[in-house]
Amino acid sequence: MKILVTGGAGYIGSHTTLALLEAGFEVVVLDNLCNSSKIALTRVEQLTTSTLTFVEGDINDRALLDNVFAEHRIGAVMHFAGLKAVGESVVQPLMYYRNNVAGTLILCEAMAAAKVFKLVFSSSATVYGETNEMPLHEQLPTGSATNPYGQSKVMVERCLSDLGAADPRWSIALLRYFNPVGAHSSGLIGENPNGRPNNLLPYISQVAAGKLEELAVYGNDYPTTDGTGVRDYIHVVDLADGHLRALQAIESSHGVAAWNLGTGVGYSVLQIIEAFEKASGCKIPYRLFPRRDGDIAECRADSSKALRELGWQSTRGLAEMMMDTWRWTRQNPTGYS
Ligand code: NAD
Ligand code: UDP
Repeated sequence: MKILVTGGAGYIGSHTTLALLEAGFEVVVLDNLCNSSKIALTRVEQLTTSTLTFVEGDINDRALLDNVFAEHRIGAVMHFAGLKAVGESVVQPLMYYRNNVAGTLILCEAMAAAKVFKLVFSSSATVYGETNEMPLHEQLPTGSATNPYGQSKVMVERCLSDLGAADPRWSIALLRYFNPVGAHSSGLIGENPNGRPNNLLPYISQVAAGKLEELAVYGNDYPTTDGTGVRDYIHVVDLADGHLRALQAIESSHGVAAWNLGTGVGYSVLQIIEAFEKASGCKIPYRLFPRRDGDIAECRADSSKALRELGWQSTRGLAEMMMDTWRWTRQNPTGYS
């Protein structure tokens, strides 16, 4: 089967493209390269014996999408394309709603016109917003995200749920990622943030690589083991595997389903620093700062639904996540450039 992977040159998309090729799928990647490099795809091809088709372009370009569907017999779409910087989304909300929400609607319209009704969507744990329940499970209400990025995921989930309810031909997986980290064990592909990273692991890696001086730890007064924020970090290769399982599941079913993709285990910022130092042998200087706006104390997945229904669970632990992150950074200190 041929899969259209939007955003396939990006961090999670490139790892999933590799997993798809390794599993024998044909892949067409559509990416406008606004936050990625074509080199990632060359590296993906280097890691397999297969080749992929790359189309440089935007999901908002309906004519281009129609051409892609006309030219290739696409069986399903994996939709990673989107903007993901929370802070930027607060400053430029329209850009986020246009790209993430309107872009997804245009993609779905083009899919329906081409009679392609299978879609795997990159959602996020952020759709749960604030809740007192932990771990987070799929039955919890969504719709209270605190920033436009999160809200764009809530909106798209809503649109896709309505679409699935209105037309039984659709089969849609909403994959709610927790905190993706790590890189392929070859060190050839990994996360390549533009400018100063916002997320913890890319920031720590750049401190280790000597590109940034010290890490700011945001908040040490949370009600957690050591006062710093706790997150459920998931290895990107496990995440990629989750996409293949979801694809398998929607091949034989109809409707819309959400699955959490996390490990269920939470680590604090200080525990991550310690684990990274151990894996890399580098000291990570850090300083305590007040809490970051919009952050919550803890975020952890109940992924039992994915285990039950997809037969998926994460297999890579914290040490492997840290070692793979560090190998990627060490081998590619300037990313793909
Ligand atoms: P990424 O920025 O590395 O990848 C996204 C890719 O989409 C990039 O290659 C970018 O060039 C492309 N893109 C963006 N807008 C596009 C458009 N209009 N048309 C075509 N291509 C476009 O991000 P990622 O970390 O790989 O995230 C992939 C998806 O997963 C995103 O939708 C993101 O919101 C979601 N997600 C990511 C995380 C995370 O922490 N990385 C967590 C939860 C959800
Ligand atoms: N964090 C931090 N310093 C940073 C980046 C993140 O202390 O430079 C903390 C943040 O407050 C949170 C955890 O690390 O507790 C994970 O943050 P990240 O931005 O990676 O993920 P998210 O907050 O989106 O879950």
